[in-house]
Amino acid sequence: MTQKILILPGDGIGPEIIAEAAKALECLRQEFGLDIGLEYGLLGGGAVDTLGSPYPMATDRQARAADAILLGAVGGPKWDGYDRPLRPEQGLAAIRRQLGLFANLRPTLHYPQLASLSPLKPELVAGLDLLVVRESTGDVYFGQPRGIRSLENGEREGFNTMVYRTSEIERIARVAFEAARRRHRKLCSVDKANTLETSQLWREVVEQVALDYPDVALSHLYVDNAVIQLVRAPRQFDVIVTGNLFGDILSNGAAMLSGSLGILPSASLDASGKGLFEPMHGSAPDIAGKGMANPLAAILSAAMLLRYGLQQPELAGRIERAVAQVLDQGLRTVDIMAEGMTPVGTQEMGDAVVAALAA
Ligand code: NAD
Repeated sequence: MTQKILILPGDGIGPEIIAEAAKALECLRQEFGLDIGLEYGLLGGGAVDTLGSPYPMATDRQARAADAILLGAVGGPKWDGYDRPLRPEQGLAAIRRQLGLFANLRPTLHYPQLASLSPLKPELVAGLDLLVVRESTGDVYFGQPRGIRSLENGEREGFNTMVYRTSEIERIARVAFEAARRRHRKLCSVDKANTLETSQLWREVVEQVALDYPDVALSHLYVDNAVIQLVRAPRQFDVIVTGNLFGDILSNGAAMLSGSLGILPSASLDASGKGLFEPMHGSAPDIAGKGMANPLAAILSAAMLLRYGLQQPELAGRIERAVAQVLDQGLRTVDIMAEGMTPVGTQEMGDAVVAALAA
């Protein structure tokens, strides 16, 4: 049966990089029998301009009907002064909330061709292949009560509530165990169980879920130690699972181990595995329209869509190998270029990936 992919190019460099990802998917459709139909929709600033909302009803209908969603990026200075409900980023928050996308998957893969970009020594990151699974709809960011109140002595006090239910912990743990099963079968759960009750429950539930996954080796780390280990010896990790707050910080730290935002994809999944796939970077308004954006994060997001959204690991692998091949050939956009290299543009990079795919 033909699977429906909704493409939301978004703002800034979004349309430029997504066009290249769509070319890669189209190539797989034509050459390798991938049975998909591509449909386009509006999200973010462009949606505000055209339909008056960053997440219009029409997009919501398309998103619910789609089997998977591929997003570019949203936002830009044009909309920075708009009221909060009309800010492009609200479109992103709304689609995640409306579709119940609670599991955020962020892989960090080290490409030997880009070794010089990593802030860590090459021997520490060579072969790095890490996935952070972050719970993204709960925790202290959403817990009630929250606010800023005045105390009797006139001082003000800010407060938030860290809260996780067993059902929330269990479902994110299952996503992480399943992901580990498809990889190297090692899962590290990160918490702060030595000081936080929320984390004590987190650890208890993760251990309970682990009974269903005897083939996955589970370990635990306190978040402070996890930061040390990520910088000291990141290759010890396969999959890390953690809550929203710790995941926000750890996933960004892990991302930078590869050295460039322009090559990092991500996925946000719901309870049934349906997902939204997007580059980790933003809409890069400073380079939008110049044809110099790196399309590889978007192209690798299409690979994640195939692996996690459409259960097509073989075709996902084809895209990933094609990307490695163009890097081997020495092609670089300006953001991942080393001294003395001549950069290629967005389209040229996309064309090279398609040529490697079809070869
Ligand atoms: P950004 O990620 O857009 O850009 C940071 C820097 O990285 C810029 O110098 C940019 O030129 C460069 N860069 C990013 N992606 C690149 C690529 N593919 N190729 C080459 N260079 C690239 O972050 P920012 O500047 O903080 O934010 C710009 C806009 O994007 C803001 O409106 C922000 O709200 C939005 N944003 C959107 C998302 C999203 O849609 N998921 C995420 C982050 C930021």
